Amino acid sequence: MTISREGTNLDPWYGHYAERTAGLSASEVRALFAVASRPEVVSLAGGMPAVSALPLDTVAASMERVMTERGPAALQYGSGQGTPELREHILEIMALEGIRAGVDDVVVTTGSQQALDLVAKLFLNPGDVVIAESPSYVGAMGIFRSYQSEVAHVPMDDDGMIPHALTERIASLRAAGRSIKLLYLIPNFHNPAGVTLSAERRLEILDIARKNDILIIEDNPYGLLWFDRPAPQAMRSVDDEGIVYLGSFSKTFAPGFRVGWALAPHAIREKLVLAAESAILSPSSLNQMIISDYLDRADWRGQVDVFRGLYRERRDAMLDALDHYLPDLTWTVPNGGFYVWLTLPSGLDSKGMLPRAVKELVAYTPGTAFYADGSGREALRLAFCYPEADQVREGVRRLATVVRSETEL
Ligand code: PMP
Repeated sequence: MTISREGTNLDPWYGHYAERTAGLSASEVRALFAVASRPEVVSLAGGMPAVSALPLDTVAASMERVMTERGPAALQYGSGQGTPELREHILEIMALEGIRAGVDDVVVTTGSQQALDLVAKLFLNPGDVVIAESPSYVGAMGIFRSYQSEVAHVPMDDDGMIPHALTERIASLRAAGRSIKLLYLIPNFHNPAGVTLSAERRLEILDIARKNDILIIEDNPYGLLWFDRPAPQAMRSVDDEGIVYLGSFSKTFAPGFRVGWALAPHAIREKLVLAAESAILSPSSLNQMIISDYLDRADWRGQVDVFRGLYRERRDAMLDALDHYLPDLTWTVPNGGFYVWLTLPSGLDSKGMLPRAVKELVAYTPGTAFYADGSGREALRLAFCYPEADQVREGVRRLATVVRSETEL
């Protein structure tokens, strides 16, 4: 075997990697997790759910019961589509957001992240375009890039993606001969922007996608975590042909189980199951059974209420602190989820400012992480989900010190 030593990289396999690996790069968020995990740093960076608020003894009892009552099945391979039992539960959860579907329409995946990867794998050829909000979820854009496709952003305001901007973007991409395959949306409590797509715009955007023959991915991990009023009904509740809907147990239960799902139109669903089987054979039987048991026996709706109350308190702490310490800046006001999007005074660079912030013992995610086109320097994402309310306040206070000293430079 000859080993190519092309390029300057010390990796002896440098010349062997597939072209699609050029799109693989450590996300800015990932690098931050290492820094922000130091206990003295208030991390407003990662979107980590507050799992310590779960009733851990109830979860432990579910684990124990699954092992003692159904151990051999839990430790065995299972259906590539997921257990029918869990899929029934998933239907019940989605019904809370107005979605009606059949148990065969659901595919259980290893987190909704895997569902995103599978959908991308089914649809994206190199050079294809995915339209996404501006900004968009860093983890989704990483997947699209890894299939050598491009993200085209469409601007948002406080009501989410702007429909006429979407129409214009589609027209200009088509005029340039581009193939648009997917419209990727996070309608509820957007990551990272914190905004929610209004009910009217959901219908308008559905109409635009339908007329232009573009498949929508409705990514909805945060929908049940609303604060002041529920989010509008899911887009999938009014269209079951043109949408792949993605859900997750990561935010309403626990991300450590790595269980999410896709709800797809019949033909796509069949291909999704084949792709899932080829990727992982079957999702974890053990984890699906534990989740089913928890959903059967625990007051999971009450627990979602606990999470909502806790995140609302932290959101309030963040908004109060922003009002108090950074009154001249602008930010989004989320009605659910984990994130606030903060716009810095013009001329400031959120990425360049980060080392200074970490020195002041606060971390955030620079806006540039959420754009495929290099923009976002003047914005940053603040996550209020993980630190307790007083720590959220302290984090914003530290951030304000950094912003002020940067503006005085
Ligand atoms: N989509 C969005 C918008 C997210 O914020 C996340 C998690 N940060 C995911 C998908 C992936 O979630 P999971 O794989 O844990 O279900």
